[in-house]
Amino acid sequence: IHHVFDPITYWVSQDPTRVALRFEDESWTWQQLSDRVRRNAAAQSALGLAPGDRVAFLDKNHPASLETTLACAVAGTVNAVLNYRLAPSELAYVINDSRAELLILGAEFVDVIDTIKPNLDHVRTIIVLGGEADEYEAWLGKAPPRETAHPTHPEDCFLQLYTSGTTGHPKGAMLTHRSVGAHSIAASAAFGFARDSVNMVAMPLFHVGGTSWALAAMSQGAETVLVREVVPAMVLDQIIRQSVTHAFFVPAVIRFFLQVPGVSARDFRSLRCLGYGGSPMPEALLREAMSTFDVDFYQVYGMTEASGVFCVLGPQHHRDSARPERLRAAGQPIEGVEVRVVDPALGDEVPVGEVGEFQIRGPQVTAGYWQRESDTAASFDGEWFKTGDAGRRDPDGFYYVEDRVKDVIISGGENIYPAEVERVVSEYPDVAEVAVIGVPDDKWGEVVRAVVVAKSGADIDEDKLLDFCAAHLAGYKRPRTIDIVPSLPRNATGKILKRDLRAPHWAGRS
Ligand code: AMP
Ligand code: MG
Repeated sequence: IHHVFDPITYWVSQDPTRVALRFEDESWTWQQLSDRVRRNAAAQSALGLAPGDRVAFLDKNHPASLETTLACAVAGTVNAVLNYRLAPSELAYVINDSRAELLILGAEFVDVIDTIKPNLDHVRTIIVLGGEADEYEAWLGKAPPRETAHPTHPEDCFLQLYTSGTTGHPKGAMLTHRSVGAHSIAASAAFGFARDSVNMVAMPLFHVGGTSWALAAMSQGAETVLVREVVPAMVLDQIIRQSVTHAFFVPAVIRFFLQVPGVSARDFRSLRCLGYGGSPMPEALLREAMSTFDVDFYQVYGMTEASGVFCVLGPQHHRDSARPERLRAAGQPIEGVEVRVVDPALGDEVPVGEVGEFQIRGPQVTAGYWQRESDTAASFDGEWFKTGDAGRRDPDGFYYVEDRVKDVIISGGENIYPAEVERVVSEYPDVAEVAVIGVPDDKWGEVVRAVVVAKSGADIDEDKLLDFCAAHLAGYKRPRTIDIVPSLPRNATGKILKRDLRAPHWAGRS
């Protein structure tokens, strides 16, 4: 258990003049970074922020975000890093939820915040970052660096990240000295972060895939290359130019890379670890990426509430030609994490190979959701955190993500995971897209309904599609009804809104 997460003090003592952080054309040594972090901490106190108080940070990726997170670890305060893609009303909700009194605000977002300022209940001070005045630089210059850290307890939170989710309001997952410290050690062992690593941080810092990926490598003394925003061709150039050794991207970004002209002729061999994940990786995309980039691939399966990654599929399993199905696995648990697979209705572990909910236990699990005790209680079974992901473990201990538990359909007491039915329906020639939901049924409680988008110009014969399903699925898993629609409802990140598909069927029922 880590008492305090503080990579800065140690690496300043070892390597004061080596570069710790690069961003655009600037770089900072460990000594310079430490100085900025300690000034930020002192300046927070000068504004009257006390341990436990929240700071809200809103900008695209910028060194000030990492500085503020590290400063909060020193000051005992908490950096709530905000999703800059949110709509103004959503931002107001999250800023109010955090109760932040200080808002550090990127100059590009001043106009957005102006529209919601009257609705912000707690913010007393706004410090604009960048732009002509650069109030943030002036603010850092005001206070002498804070020498000593606030006495921390491992359970103290210093980073609060809001979870996405397709239902309800965002919730602030509290990440602590204990959880971030444990994650950093385990992730570093899994990915090989070390003092000579050059780690690219290109995913947004409001996600664990940004901030936790950055902090893990920093804990080992690695150099961080921070990217403001992903522009695929520029990111690829930067990997080569700066001899990046480690990088992480979501599958959608990997797909963009493959469309960059001339990508397959470039030499990416400086990369010792190309991490991908954060959402399901289509196998065909992975195969194409592996044939384009001749480097070691690591699948990253993680979530905000795990402080980052908790299962990794290492490069050796990407190349195991005897076990090609491994490419569909999310991986094996990293150091210190246990994963169990539980029947969500009964609460018992299911046999190996059967689908259930993944629950995780270990020091890197969140302390809970900020000011939401009942949500926190509902998310744990004792020490086990309920991930909401459904999947299975194979006999060799590899985990496969299949679905979301909340989408599970219970028909006549049998659990049906929509992904399994969707896979079959999507194999039918004229189907472009499908979403499977449960609809009420007097006899079975719920039955399966397939909402289908036909390929353009195709005319789907519903009876033939039902026959096709009958040939490939157990009786209770077969769709009873089919709904042909022009398109499926999706949220901003492209996730299908099953809630919206279900709603009309369940109106007036529980
Ligand atoms: P978030 O809480 O926003 O960080 O998102 C975490 C969720 O993303 C997990 O609960 C999974 O549903 C999904 N996810 C993350 N990594 C993977 C992966 N490698 N494969 C499949 N799903 C993933
Ligand atoms: Mg989540």
